[in-house]
Amino acid sequence: RLIEQDKAHHVHPQSNLRQHAEHGPTMITHGKGVYIYDTEGNEIIDGFSGLGCVSLGYHNERLSNAAKRQMDILPFAPTFYNRSHPRVAELGERLINLAPGGMNKVMFQCSGSEANDTAIKLLWYTNTARGEPERRKIFGRVRGYHGNTVATVSLSGQPHMHAKFGLPLPEFKHTELPNYYRFHIDGESEEEFSARMAAEFEKLILAEGPETVAAFFAEPAISGGGALMPPEGYWKEMQAVLRKYDIKLVSDEVVCGFGRTGNMWGSETWGMEPDMVSCAKALSAAFFPISALMFKDEMYADMMKNSDEMGTFGHGYTYAGHPVGAAVGLEALDIYEEIDLVGHVRKVSARFLEKCHAMADHPLVAEVRGVGLFCGFELMQDAKARVPFDPALKVGEMVQNFAHDRGLYLRAIGDRMSFMPPLIINEEEIDLATERFKDALDDAW
Ligand code: PLP
Repeated sequence: RLIEQDKAHHVHPQSNLRQHAEHGPTMITHGKGVYIYDTEGNEIIDGFSGLGCVSLGYHNERLSNAAKRQMDILPFAPTFYNRSHPRVAELGERLINLAPGGMNKVMFQCSGSEANDTAIKLLWYTNTARGEPERRKIFGRVRGYHGNTVATVSLSGQPHMHAKFGLPLPEFKHTELPNYYRFHIDGESEEEFSARMAAEFEKLILAEGPETVAAFFAEPAISGGGALMPPEGYWKEMQAVLRKYDIKLVSDEVVCGFGRTGNMWGSETWGMEPDMVSCAKALSAAFFPISALMFKDEMYADMMKNSDEMGTFGHGYTYAGHPVGAAVGLEALDIYEEIDLVGHVRKVSARFLEKCHAMADHPLVAEVRGVGLFCGFELMQDAKARVPFDPALKVGEMVQNFAHDRGLYLRAIGDRMSFMPPLIINEEEIDLATERFKDALDDAW
């Protein structure tokens, strides 16, 4: 009955509509720890943390009690018109204390898309205050992902999210995806490849006119584009180009933030020095929608100039800094500290990566790359000659489906598998999940 109800009325985002119309959805009813359960009675290890967000697993009374407590005290308070409430003031300070160097201001939203959309608007807003209104172009990367508002999906480089929507908007440009394995020239080292990526980026900037380019948005390691770790030297080379032309770097930490890569922030893992940082997902361990955008005092000073002129800073969402989201976020950050979540990720990461790399020998697998609890698998017909599978074979989807049958939820992005379990996963669960993954590869082979 539930499946029929869903089929009849519910239009699913980011889904194959035909498949839903014919087969209905997978209906998840409850979860505990790293496990989710469906209406068929299957117990499935969530190897994708929901959507890369369920950091603390599916049952946590501290988080649910924090939400209930806050709902009983103050379920809503606006943050418009200089109004505030205790939890959001505390969360702001807490985040800034955790943030990568130089961040001192924070704005709250409900999703990663809204955080990045806010970042785009703040770049445009502050560039007008700096007397550079023509600095409007924003770079992302081919196959990068930063959200689904009209602006953030334009910034994303996912062809199926542009075609037939009449996107991207003209201000948004895309530089190459740094997939060393797929795109390196024979004999080219990772460092040489990174230098080439940066040189190609610089060429694009020069073609656009550097004085028209506001920022480059990037995840420290790419999640939505297929679990890609930056090749050696990539961030050093790319940041040198950005500095040369005074182009801001926005680190999208929506997935990498809060421990995924074995540090609090992905930008720490790869020595990035961002001007702005967006985060969401694990900010509340996915128990409540809340996101944040952090930036530096200089940017705030430019916002102040415009606000003084206009009377009001003209941006914001009703649920910005929602009290329940803020209370849950504070509780999540307390838990992260108390259980030393980042330390835990580092500890179990060794086992996780060892087991993942052991699958590199599998005939379907061409490359395995990972850090922390974040691992990507490149599936290829011929690993050495780098010959991809015929896309019509849908090998990635096949592995994803076999994994589901074996009790593991994995995400296929074309023929790239993304494996990023909840950050609380233990070594036994890692063994079980990787065993199921290996079995699914065998099934597909
Ligand atoms: N940025 C990255 C890197 C993401 O992976 C996502 C979502 O998956 C977003 C932004 C958008 O976040 P949301 O779906 O919460 O709007």
